[in-house]
Amino acid sequence: MADDVSLSWVPPEVDTAKSSPARVYDYGLGGSHNFEVDRAVLDKIKEIVPSTPQPAQDNRAFLRRAVRFCQEQGIRQFLDLGSGVPTVGNVHEIAQQTDPGARVVYVDIDPIAVAHSRRILAGNGNAVVLHADMRRPDEVLGAPETRRLLDFDEPIAVLMVAMAHYLADEDDPVGILNRYRAVQRPGSYLVFSHMTDEDHPEDMRRAVEIFNADTTEPMILRSRAEIEHLLEGYDLVEPGLVYPSQWRSDGPLPADHDPSRSAFFAAVGSPHP
Ligand code: SAM
Repeated sequence: MADDVSLSWVPPEVDTAKSSPARVYDYGLGGSHNFEVDRAVLDKIKEIVPSTPQPAQDNRAFLRRAVRFCQEQGIRQFLDLGSGVPTVGNVHEIAQQTDPGARVVYVDIDPIAVAHSRRILAGNGNAVVLHADMRRPDEVLGAPETRRLLDFDEPIAVLMVAMAHYLADEDDPVGILNRYRAVQRPGSYLVFSHMTDEDHPEDMRRAVEIFNADTTEPMILRSRAEIEHLLEGYDLVEPGLVYPSQWRSDGPLPADHDPSRSAFFAAVGSPHP
């Protein structure tokens, strides 16, 4: 059962009549930091895309496997752009479980995601959250918290998981990716997933119409080719750009699992020099 809007965790600047991607996603993952307006959006989408909220869960499971993969390659620091409302299995929890010295900088534009992240990170000297717009890489990369925690002389995993579909073409997503890529030393990784209308385009068009009707951050769906274009600066590790559940899955997928219903593509890549 989600919390009521009257509760004290709501920062005063939040418009509780507008849905936000962070809160809708939180609801999809079974979290409690969402409002009636967020729940209504996802419930309406579920009528069109009955697999909802499986896509969010598949995406989150991809995030976990990808963080573990990065750690196996020796990564000890993570910049998580568009990190969301912390639920179970956040990057610092995954990474610090096996490497207590792993460092994580979370970045989100959503005040509730940031407020809740601050609360759960209190006392964790190796993880911090920035309230920032990742479309301003200089601010994110130059923030004192980022400089304190991340060592740009060492490889870094940059995560943009379920967030690049909030970058409009006018934002110049390739330019933004390039800016973050430029500070990544060899041995670094990008962990990436993006919503797509490649499959079931009519359902997805209607779902996005509902999502974007009154939201803080509108979403834009991209085709497989458009997402591949965003990732041209990276060598994708096997199995390349796939549905999240297909990315190095832990075991066989259930027989009735239709990966194309995930509405996401996911990949991990190493940046070109
Ligand atoms: N990355 C997490 C995951 O995959 O579990 C959360 C994904 S959630 C769907 C997308 C997040 O991106 C939201 O929390 C939203 O607030 C954030 N976001 C959207 N645009 C952003 C921007 N320009 N700068 C920072 N965060 C942004």
